[in-house]
Amino acid sequence: RDVGVTKPEWLRQRAPQGEKFSRLQESLSKLKLNTVCVEAQCPNIGECWNGGGGAGGEGDGIATATIMLLGDTCTRGCRFCAVKTSRNPAPLDPFEPENTARAIASWGVDYIVLTSVDRDDLPDGGSGHFAQTVKAMKNLKPEILVECLTSDFRGDLEAVSTLVHSGLNVFAHNIETVKRLQRIVRDPRAGYEQSLSVLKHAKLSKEGMITKSSIMLGLGESDDEVKEAMADLRAIDVDILTLGQYLQPTPLHLTVKEYVTPEKFAFWKDYGESIGFIYVASGPLVRSSYRAGELFVQNLVR
Ligand code: SF4
Ligand code: SF4
Repeated sequence: RDVGVTKPEWLRQRAPQGEKFSRLQESLSKLKLNTVCVEAQCPNIGECWNGGGGAGGEGDGIATATIMLLGDTCTRGCRFCAVKTSRNPAPLDPFEPENTARAIASWGVDYIVLTSVDRDDLPDGGSGHFAQTVKAMKNLKPEILVECLTSDFRGDLEAVSTLVHSGLNVFAHNIETVKRLQRIVRDPRAGYEQSLSVLKHAKLSKEGMITKSSIMLGLGESDDEVKEAMADLRAIDVDILTLGQYLQPTPLHLTVKEYVTPEKFAFWKDYGESIGFIYVASGPLVRSSYRAGELFVQNLVR
């Protein structure tokens, strides 16, 4: 059996602390709000919730959190992902958009990442429901920055447009890995070209739309393949890129082929920024929404 390679020291997790983190944690307990940050025990929670500056928190104060919409059960089964799957997930909660928006607005976070499972069982892949949530959010708290990290909607570009015109600030969709490994890593219904077409359409649908994507490293990709993926994303004007280490969630998932060193992640950040990404967040523990609000404000608002 392929047991993969041993986990290095730099992936050790730090206990979160910091003033804003404590405040958000306290107010969260009163709300019916399940964050991906808590549910997935994300190692970046101190940095994201404090608005950066390290786990102790002295950043720009733009706190980021991630919420999962459309239920907790996915119609797909990617080999890197621990979310539970079913062909027929529970029907959508019609009150989810309004209730989620209300909870987030009263919670005190500055930048919210709305993400979801894939819902291939729904005619629009859930895009209308997603868009309603963004609209409700912006109605209640216009100053909140909203990023949507979406599925590929099976390549349905109308579904992409619905979301792009909902009032969001950043449209994110992850290609997850290099071209050659798509079939091994992602559900067969996903694909490299389909993901690129979604990102391209989001960019072209609305003037000034900011787009973002993410690649996991450590799945056996070569440097040239990473460069090719980055070039393909830049060719369709993707603005923001994140790169992180793939970590095997359970023994049933794909094994890690390589632990990429922090120095190599730093190289990829410089390389990505040299080919035109507005900014690249790259590090072993970086996840798609890592310090998203703080980095957005630092690089795109000022
Ligand atoms: Fe939450 Fe994403 Fe930050 Fe993790 S990286 S703490 S999931 S916002
Ligand atoms: Fe996980 Fe998304 Fe794949 Fe579903 S589509 S299994 S949520 S990565």
